[in-house]
Amino acid sequence: MKRIRQVSLLLAAAALLTCGCSRFSTKPLSFTGMAFDTVIAVQIYDSVDEEVLEHCKTMCSEYEQKFSATIETSEISQINSAGGAPVAVSEDTIELIKKGIYYSELSNGAFDITVGSVSSLWDFKSEEPIIPSPESIAEAKKHINYDKIVISNNTVTLTDPQTKIDVGAIAKGYIADRLKDYLKSQGVKHAIINLGGNVLAIGGKPDGSSFNIGIRKPFHEEEEPLTTVKIKNKSVVTSGTSQRYFEKDGNLYHHIIDPASGYPCNNGLNSVTIITNSSLTADALSTTCFLLGPDKGLRLVNQLDNVDAVFVDTNNEITYSRNFLKK
Ligand code: ADP
Ligand code: MG
Repeated sequence: MKRIRQVSLLLAAAALLTCGCSRFSTKPLSFTGMAFDTVIAVQIYDSVDEEVLEHCKTMCSEYEQKFSATIETSEISQINSAGGAPVAVSEDTIELIKKGIYYSELSNGAFDITVGSVSSLWDFKSEEPIIPSPESIAEAKKHINYDKIVISNNTVTLTDPQTKIDVGAIAKGYIADRLKDYLKSQGVKHAIINLGGNVLAIGGKPDGSSFNIGIRKPFHEEEEPLTTVKIKNKSVVTSGTSQRYFEKDGNLYHHIIDPASGYPCNNGLNSVTIITNSSLTADALSTTCFLLGPDKGLRLVNQLDNVDAVFVDTNNEITYSRNFLKK
């Protein structure tokens, strides 16, 4: 069952790339693999050494070793299990946590980088998923509060030993940006980085046209995309209920948690897609806007320069941000 789901995820990711990258005369240099618990792919349309692609894979596994919540030795796990003691970590981890705090403040805690005490109670990948008990959720939720993170130089301290950082909503965006920096430093001008649907384009297609990126119809991955966007030098990131979920007794339980209730956030949205230059910003804002809901989320996006959004409600009705992709 799990295997079937992984394969279909792989196909879904592949479909998205095929849709974006057909009709090239030269075959891109590419790899597809698994990392961050999802399918990742990099396609380069310039002639570069195979080693460049290899280095991208190495970068992905190094970042996974730093950020993963499931690797006990990762820097994030070390912070979470330190019992309130300071933990020295890399600059990447400091920067990522600072970004997480920024979006937690921006959304007044609707997005909260310390959602880990509750999110770790939920397992959306299990063959037989269990709904955590109301008591365990009520207890765990007390420890969500980004104010409990203290950063001093290269150390991170959680002032509440039960608080847990969860970088799941922003890590892939951060890593995609770092892969982009590296590829550009190697002279790459045309490429697509896809970390589990977190898409970042370097330039456009070699013929000068834009990449087409499909925005999938939630829960209908195999069908035609709901809509497509044309991008050059931009990232497209979607957060939604159909990314990781299970159904039980007619209810949908998904992985975006409302810190106020400790339960999945159900607010009439199926997904939010953000299109902007930085993949970190797109990743963080897609989750943040989902959590803020259709009204506040759209209001936030409409205040920001150079950020476009597609909100899809539970009837798959689409609302675009003001001036959507108009330049
Ligand atoms: P995906 O992981 O599919 O890319 P998102 O970027 O929307 O999707 O991130 C969802 C992840 O964010 C969850 O799996 C969890 O790790 C984390 N998360 C869940 N709820 C919150 C929240 N309220 N604030 C911050 N992060 C959250
Ligand atoms: Mg996100």
